[in-house]
Amino acid sequence: MKKQISIFGSTGSIGTNTVELIKNNPDKYEIIALVAASNVKLLIEQSLLLKPKFVVIKNQESYQLLKSELSSLRGTEILAGEEAILDVAKIKCDLFISAIVGSASMLPTLNAIRAGSNIALANKESLVCAGEFMIEEAKRNKVNLIPVDSEHNAIFQIFENDNLDVITDITLTASGGPFFNSDKDLSKVSVSEAVKHPNWSMGAKISVDSATMMNKGLEMIEAYRLFPVTKDQIKILIHPQSIIHGLVNYDDGSTLAVLSNPDMKVPIAYALSYPKRLKINHNQLNLAKIKELTFFEVDEQKFPAITLCKQAMYDDDNSTTILNAANEVAVERFLKQEVAFSDIVKIVAASLNKIPNQKLTSIEDVIEFDGLARIAARQIKF
Ligand code: NAD
Ligand code: MG
Repeated sequence: MKKQISIFGSTGSIGTNTVELIKNNPDKYEIIALVAASNVKLLIEQSLLLKPKFVVIKNQESYQLLKSELSSLRGTEILAGEEAILDVAKIKCDLFISAIVGSASMLPTLNAIRAGSNIALANKESLVCAGEFMIEEAKRNKVNLIPVDSEHNAIFQIFENDNLDVITDITLTASGGPFFNSDKDLSKVSVSEAVKHPNWSMGAKISVDSATMMNKGLEMIEAYRLFPVTKDQIKILIHPQSIIHGLVNYDDGSTLAVLSNPDMKVPIAYALSYPKRLKINHNQLNLAKIKELTFFEVDEQKFPAITLCKQAMYDDDNSTTILNAANEVAVERFLKQEVAFSDIVKIVAASLNKIPNQKLTSIEDVIEFDGLARIAARQIKF
């Protein structure tokens, strides 16, 4: 029996890596749905290759082109628009790849959870914005949430093999992004400098998040939601080579870690074939060649995004929703060259100050505060 997979965000960086792995293993996987926002050319290519049952594009204007280019696919239904994305997410599959960027991924992923599909979770924003609700929904529906984010995938792998009651703490490593070792004035950073990550090739939004280190802050909140650890047990450590992804310290003095070259195919393959492992084409880790692995504390003065995220994690109310939405808008404004790189964190902080703290009681609350934070973050002027 082939594993039935849906890829939401198939044309992105995670999506294309997933497609590559599936293409190389036609005997193991078949595709139920491919979903993307606007890259119709690539979506057509992927659909002709993988012959999914459903293809959905968010952008309505691309529908006619998609339909005519895929007319040779007899068993494929072609749809467009946000409603169609939400509907197709309800179709049960063996593994739903959550790889849409931003909190736009939250409702489709919730629909997939409610349908009883196991989730390979690349998207971290939905966990950060949704408070406890996504995790509760996953427990209620008895579905696995398998983290694809490399650090969380590492911790997940370690937790699979060891007892959880004797953990001292967990560590997520961070490359530090392009500005860790630079004394560049962060108000003068260009878009191309900010998206140029030293180790990973990723979508624009997460690349900017890595440069502000908001990414690592979001990942702390993601880890808090995913794992049975306290807030105080989540540490971060700068490790510029991105070879060690996550570590767990135990009360007996042992530390377990997961290492690999920085290649997202590794955690994606783990999620695809979980609980087994998949043989993939990759560069074998060669520590003798790498020679040196180095580690540093995070400088929160230089990267105040970390402080904001910690604060939101400790507040554990609508702050994580506001922080995430305001950050999405701020990054978008930076990518459009409306604001400076150093304004991103200022916009997030100002949005958090503007909207009063309140406990979240439902997903409707999450949607409301996500919307309010977006309005606030768009209005902030410099
Ligand atoms: P990306 O920008 O390269 O791709 C995003 C994908 O989502 C595209 O296919 C796009 O068409 C689709 N999309 C965007 N908005 C949509 C919407 N409203 N409706 C439907 N589809 C939409 O992003 P990425 O780098 O692949 O990252 C995807 C997610 O995975 C992010 O949440 C990111 O934080 C997480 N992640 C990525 C990496 C990585 O290496 N790229 C690593 C860890 C985690
Ligand atoms: Mg990560």
